[in-house]
Amino acid sequence: MRVELIAVGTELLLGDITNTNGQYLSKKMAESGFALYYQTIVGDNEKRITEALRIAYSRADMVITTGGLGPTDDDITKEVCATFFNKSLVLDPYSLKKIEAMYQQRNVPMPDINKKQAYYIDESQILENHNGSAIGCYLQSEGKHLIILPGPPSEMIPMYENEVFPLISPLQEETFFSNYLNIFGIGESSVNDFIRDLLQKNNPTVAPYAKDHYVKLRITASGTSENIAQVEIDHIKKELYQRLGEHIFSEGDCSLEEVVQKKLTEHSYKIAIAESCTGGLLSAKLIRLPGISNTFKEGIIAYSNASKNRSLGIPETLLKKHGAVSKECAMLMAKNIALQNYADIGISTTGIAGPSSDHTEKPVGLVYVGYYINGKEDYQELRLSGSRDKIREMTVLTTLYTLLKKL
Ligand code: ATP
Ligand code: MG
Repeated sequence: MRVELIAVGTELLLGDITNTNGQYLSKKMAESGFALYYQTIVGDNEKRITEALRIAYSRADMVITTGGLGPTDDDITKEVCATFFNKSLVLDPYSLKKIEAMYQQRNVPMPDINKKQAYYIDESQILENHNGSAIGCYLQSEGKHLIILPGPPSEMIPMYENEVFPLISPLQEETFFSNYLNIFGIGESSVNDFIRDLLQKNNPTVAPYAKDHYVKLRITASGTSENIAQVEIDHIKKELYQRLGEHIFSEGDCSLEEVVQKKLTEHSYKIAIAESCTGGLLSAKLIRLPGISNTFKEGIIAYSNASKNRSLGIPETLLKKHGAVSKECAMLMAKNIALQNYADIGISTTGIAGPSSDHTEKPVGLVYVGYYINGKEDYQELRLSGSRDKIREMTVLTTLYTLLKKL
């Protein structure tokens, strides 16, 4: 079944509020397997709401509106929808009593205009609102479905969950199920190149999304049950692992640092980190995770040469000869922070995050990451670009990803 959403409210068009109702309902439609191809935002204007309804019903069987159910004169959604379907509005005495009782409880007289919120469209089913005064409606007419919901999310969401979902889910036989794969180290266009043929498939569908610093692949299959859909998804997942395997670091919502933590815990490894250009970002990412105390021993920020010398024992001669941004410095930082902590793993970062260089001929974006893993020293040279923040963030993520590969 095809569904369209219409968010009513001039404040949405002016950018004063964000259409989070649209976001919420889109997710719900996708979860329930309804096909949602269009969404409309329209102001509180009779002619334009009517036009939006006409266009939506030319493409879809069901329309869900949000907003415009308030008591004021500019709240006209229910009135316009009733006219659109050639129906009248009927007063629901029970809802009116409820609204009156709400005012009585607050000890203020109910303004006459609030009566308006107790009206429903003739022949429609009332959708009760336990968190506000405006009732919603579910109308079925001439093979079309209409659902009218209030604008405030605190009212709309519970009404959707409790009233609308049970009504509309039987309308959809097949449901959609999705799995997500998280990919690091190659961009969206390279992912596209690797799996171009799979992106053309219909069931399951595969779709890449570029996230801030990684790519997410969504694999969606429809089926009458989750098990049936999962079989189809697993099939494609196997193929994706074959083609992109080394770049897939997790599934679902699992972050890179969470996977690293899992691996460290699995091996009972202890880790210590010495950061220069990333200024504690790497440690902070790991320390965000509950339970990290089992593996994390120390994280220090050794920013100046003096600090690298004093807290990590990097000899002045090394700093003079190779500079702080060097593989020699990175490797010794990693080794010494590990040894100082009796840790299995030492990691270090040292680089030029920009925007200007460090008075040497070394370019902005040059970063060395030192790895000391079970007595084995190694380093990674990164050539990154972008803002200072981006270079630092990419350093952290690349380090986590490389560490994961090494583990
Ligand atoms: P009210 O009785 O509060 O007037 P209403 O059903 O008439 O409710 P609107 O007047 O359209 O709804 O919006 C009321 C408030 O609800 C807005 O100020 C906004 O905070 C929120 N709201 C409305 N529409 C949306 C939306 N699409 N997404 C998120 N919030 C919304
Ligand atoms: Mg309103």
